[in-house]
Amino acid sequence: MSAMRKTINELLSDYKKVLHHDITVQGWVRAFRSNRFIALNDGSTINNLQIVVDFEKFDENILKNISTASSLNIVGEVVESQGAGQNIEIIAKKIQILGDNFTEERDKTILQPKKHSLEVLREQAHLRFRTNLFGAVFRVRSAISFAIHQFFNQNQFFYMNTPIITGADAEGAGEMFGVTNFDLNNIPRDENGDIDFEQDFFGKKTNLTVSGQLNVETSMMGLGRVYTFGPTFRAENSNTTRHLAEFWMVEPEVAFNNLEDNIDLAEDFLKYVIGYVLENCKDDLEFLDKRFAEEQKQKPEKDRASEGLIEKLENVIKKRFKRVSYTEAIEILKNSKENKKGKFQFPIEDWGADLQSEHERYLVEKHFESPVVLFDYPKEIKAFYMKLNEDGKTVAAMDVLFPGIGEIIGGSQREERYDVLSEKMKTMNVDAHELWWYLDTRKFGSVPHAGFGLGLERLVLFVTGMTNIRDVIPFPRTPKNAEF
Ligand code: ATP
Ligand code: MN
Repeated sequence: MSAMRKTINELLSDYKKVLHHDITVQGWVRAFRSNRFIALNDGSTINNLQIVVDFEKFDENILKNISTASSLNIVGEVVESQGAGQNIEIIAKKIQILGDNFTEERDKTILQPKKHSLEVLREQAHLRFRTNLFGAVFRVRSAISFAIHQFFNQNQFFYMNTPIITGADAEGAGEMFGVTNFDLNNIPRDENGDIDFEQDFFGKKTNLTVSGQLNVETSMMGLGRVYTFGPTFRAENSNTTRHLAEFWMVEPEVAFNNLEDNIDLAEDFLKYVIGYVLENCKDDLEFLDKRFAEEQKQKPEKDRASEGLIEKLENVIKKRFKRVSYTEAIEILKNSKENKKGKFQFPIEDWGADLQSEHERYLVEKHFESPVVLFDYPKEIKAFYMKLNEDGKTVAAMDVLFPGIGEIIGGSQREERYDVLSEKMKTMNVDAHELWWYLDTRKFGSVPHAGFGLGLERLVLFVTGMTNIRDVIPFPRTPKNAEF
């Protein structure tokens, strides 16, 4: 009979059960010291398993071919470890090399035992996943996604899959990527010389979705509490550390919720997910916490974070987020030293100004030193579907701003009144003809409702302490970059 096969995570976390048994483990070599100790990792945890090899018992040719990165199948006995730092180790009985390293490529990044820059690793798709850092980041990302589904499931939400290809051209959330089946060298045109989308696959112009919101709103009108969680696309040519062309968005939509309910939901949701990671990703977070501290040391003192990574996460869960109206925020910004001394790239002069990330970060990091929820924005700078407040000049919008990130969530109570919504569409040049089905939701038993969008990668950035959004998605898509 073959020995029990276990992941390294299973072995290390439940080792008493397997002590003195023979087991099979498989993984990649992280290091092979003194022809005797193999540090094996299989991706299930950041921790390595020590394999002890009595070299006299093994063929020299096998041992010669074991080096960093090669993959092994090991059968051996689990024993208590003699060395410090681990509870158990494996005394190897059988070693099989599953994949060795191409010797002619010995200079490849992965085989070098030094620290690689994140930029270099970004160009080495499969090697990146082998590093401690990216292993930790992507295990945490996976845990976050799981926690998101769990939160909504526990709160009686239904998971709605919204379309990736959309016929709506007017969501207004960002520049869209077109989807077409046309031969680009021979695009059909109508008698006016315009592109004739009637001849295209869907018989109309289609795009990749920038948001599932209009669709979750539509399904909310029957199912009550729904959320979508899927990829969204924005052709924004902004090369920042916080924007991707393809990113994952979580969008709940809740019937009968007003703006305050919406803010409560966003706060509970973020706290639940962060709490889940603190509880369930301890080893990875400890690693990321150390790395974060190292990084801070490299920075000039004035730029250093005031809290450690884990400390920061714990504090976010403890404190109630600051809730501040846009109008109050503008007053704070206008009167700030930064503004008066001309330190903002975009000075704040009047009510109505759109807030830039420098303003958001000032409020969160300098003024309040806490996550901040801004609400009641001027209607001109927000989307057409947001509910018009009684003052006639603001809408029931809310943005959640996080330290180091800026906007992590954007949401609103929606305009449920048919006449106000269609008027708004007219003044904001949104094609009501195109969105007939959306407007229809306000005709038959329309209800007050609210929802928001969270960019998954922004949350992963916050939780892992990484600084570039390209490093928290397995295969980043950004301007001029769609490799892998
Ligand atoms: P920003 O002002 O930062 O560009 P936005 O106002 O365009 O954000 P929304 O349209 O409200 O953002 O989208 C909801 C959420 O999706 C944002 O709060 C953010 O977390 C995330 N998000 C938006 N654009 C991107 C992007 N290009 N890459 C990654 N995440 C994004
Ligand atoms: Mn944007």
